[in-house]
Amino acid sequence: MTNVIDGNAAAADVRAGIEDCVETLGAAGVTPRLATVLMNDQQASATYVSMKQQDCEEVGIAAEDVRIDSDAPAEELFDAVADLNARESVHGILVQDPTPEHVPDERVTSAVDPAKDVDAFHPENVGRLVADRPRFRPCTPHGIQRLLANAGVDLDGADVVVVGRSKIVGKPLANMLAGRGDGGNATVTLCHSHTDDLAAHTRRADVVVAAAGVTELIDGSMLSEGCVVVDVGINRVDETNEKGYRLVGDVDFESAKQKASAITPVPGGVGPMTRAMLLYNTVKAASEQTGVDVDLP
Ligand code: NAD
Repeated sequence: MTNVIDGNAAAADVRAGIEDCVETLGAAGVTPRLATVLMNDQQASATYVSMKQQDCEEVGIAAEDVRIDSDAPAEELFDAVADLNARESVHGILVQDPTPEHVPDERVTSAVDPAKDVDAFHPENVGRLVADRPRFRPCTPHGIQRLLANAGVDLDGADVVVVGRSKIVGKPLANMLAGRGDGGNATVTLCHSHTDDLAAHTRRADVVVAAAGVTELIDGSMLSEGCVVVDVGINRVDETNEKGYRLVGDVDFESAKQKASAITPVPGGVGPMTRAMLLYNTVKAASEQTGVDVDLP
């Protein structure tokens, strides 16, 4: 029997723990606060931001929604971020990706105070992660690490193939899984669009993490019997339903399930955990900035 890993249930557990932390902070007079900053006109980004706002409200985190016209000068964004950096009542700041072309990505990630950088994209936080001294773990990789731990996957010495080398998923995840300590100690191969013969890598892996953004890139023929599959991809495929599309992952679920001992579905796998870990980082930030101890889940 293949274990279909339930990301919604795992996320609900994290959220319950976060609610306890919010209560502890509240008793000490602290309301954790996350500010999201949106500077693009894409519907998908607006949806992500409103989901994050709603997630915060559901667990008692105050959420602030900062919007900047996509054609405003870059300085407007940097002034807004500087203002949020300076405000003591704001504990976490997240600038929704992407920003317009005239607002360079490297400047955006460096603008957020590293102590409030709940996405963990600031170079200081990236460096700390690589040095095995993380302040924040980036949300999606952290969620994946938790899902694997919950499913009882022993990563120590395991062969893990991560497909995708993005700054937000593949690269930090590869570092975390290869790092020392719990949830690490794996032998990690990082594959990407220049990898020669992807299937040769995935076929000898104990764990495959697909984070390429390519619809059903990995199928059962590319997997070994009994492996664990984590599907990070969220891809829209046209469909004649109410929405006009359905979401599929980077893995062909049906054929992969024939081979895998455990697999995450799309939707309902990694996505809910990414959202939960943002709440985790926000509460951690509030705790560290105010000196009020919490028992993080
Ligand atoms: P990205 O586009 O920044 O990076 C994709 C990576 O995949 C690149 O490094 C590229 O080299 C690699 N790649 C592309 N085609 C490949 C191929 N044919 N073979 C091997 N490698 C290939 O993407 P991202 O931001 O890391 O996101 C990846 C996917 O995960 C997207 O579908 C995205 O929507 C999804 N995502 C999901 C969550 C979640 O919470 N579930 C979070 C972030 C991203």
